[in-house]
Amino acid sequence: MPIWEYVKAFILELPDAESKPAKLPPMRVKVLGSAAGGGFPQWNCACPNCRAVRAGTFRGKARTQTQVAVSADARSWFLPGASPDLRAQIEATAELHPRSGTNENAARQSPIAGVVLANADIDHVLGLLLLRELQPLRVYAAPSVHRILTEDNSMFAMLQRVPGQVEWTDFVPRTTFPLLGPAGNDSGLHCRAIPLSTNYPAYVSPQRQSELALREASLGLMVESPPGKRLAYVPAVPHIDDVLLKELESLDVLLFDGTFWSDDELLRIQGGGISAQTAQQMGHVPVSSAEGSLSKLAGLRRPRKIYVHINNTNPMLNEAGPEYRQVREAGWEIAEDGWEFDL
Ligand SMILES: [Zn+2]
Repeated sequence: MPIWEYVKAFILELPDAESKPAKLPPMRVKVLGSAAGGGFPQWNCACPNCRAVRAGTFRGKARTQTQVAVSADARSWFLPGASPDLRAQIEATAELHPRSGTNENAARQSPIAGVVLANADIDHVLGLLLLRELQPLRVYAAPSVHRILTEDNSMFAMLQRVPGQVEWTDFVPRTTFPLLGPAGNDSGLHCRAIPLSTNYPAYVSPQRQSELALREASLGLMVESPPGKRLAYVPAVPHIDDVLLKELESLDVLLFDGTFWSDDELLRIQGGGISAQTAQQMGHVPVSSAEGSLSKLAGLRRPRKIYVHINNTNPMLNEAGPEYRQVREAGWEIAEDGWEFDL
C-alpha cells in the first residue's frame, strides 16, 4: 500500500475512533442446568412430577442440576459452582467444548477459566472433581469453604497434583474482586459474594464448624458485566430480609431460589419419612405463602426475575398447572436448561 493510503486510512479512522467510545462487551449468561439437587426426574423419586416425566405425559421439561456459566468474550467462561451434572452439561454446550490450538498440547484445552464457590454443598462442588484432568483452572472461595475442601476432604488433592493446575484464590465476602483466568488474565467480569446463611453442610464436623466463619457458610454471588450490568445467582436463600431486598433492587437479572413451592412440600411427598424436612429447615424460602418469594419480591420491578434450582417435587414445573400460571402471571420466568441471555 502506498504511504498516502496509510495516511488517508489513519486520518479517516481517527475521528471515527474518537467519536465512538469503545463499546464494552456484554456478559453472556448460559443456564446449563436449572433443577435442584437430584435433578428432574430424580433417581429415587416417584412423585407425581417425576412419574409423569418418565411416562412421557408431563407438560414441562426434564432438567439437570443447577449450573450457570458466564463470559464477557464468549471464549473464556466462569462457573458459579460446579454441579454433579457438569460433564453432560459441558458436552451439551458448544461454547464449553475444547478448541484445538496449534501448540503441542493442542488436543487438551478448555474454555472454562475458573469456578467461584458460594458454599461447600455437594451439589455445588462435586463437579470440581470432574475438572481434575491437570487442566489449569482458578477456583475462588471464601477461606472457610477452601479449608473444608482442601484440608478435610482429601479427594480434592486431585486438583493440586502438579504446580499450575488449580489456583485457589480466597475472597472476602462483600468485597468486589475481578475474575481472572488461571494465568492471571482479566476476564472483564467482577464478582461479589454476600452472606445468606450460616449453615455449613452436614458432612462438615461440629469441631471444624466451630473453627469456621459463620458468614462464609453460604453466599449469594453477584456478577457485574463490563458495561456494569448486574446478575445475582442466589439458588439457596433461607429468608428474605431488607438487606437482601436492597441488594436485589439494583440488579438487571435475578436467578433466584425456586427450590420448593411450599414449606411442607417434601413432608407431604415423603409422608413424613426419616429424611423429610421443611423447605425452611433445608435453607430454602418457598415460592408460595405470605413469607414466600413470590410475595416478598413482588415489589421488585427492575430486574428480570427467573427461578432456578427447582426441585423435582415443585408443582410449578408443570406447565399445565395453576402454580405455573400463577408464577408466570406474577412476571417471573422458570429457567430451563439451555437458556442464554446477554447483559
Ligand atoms: Zn420427584
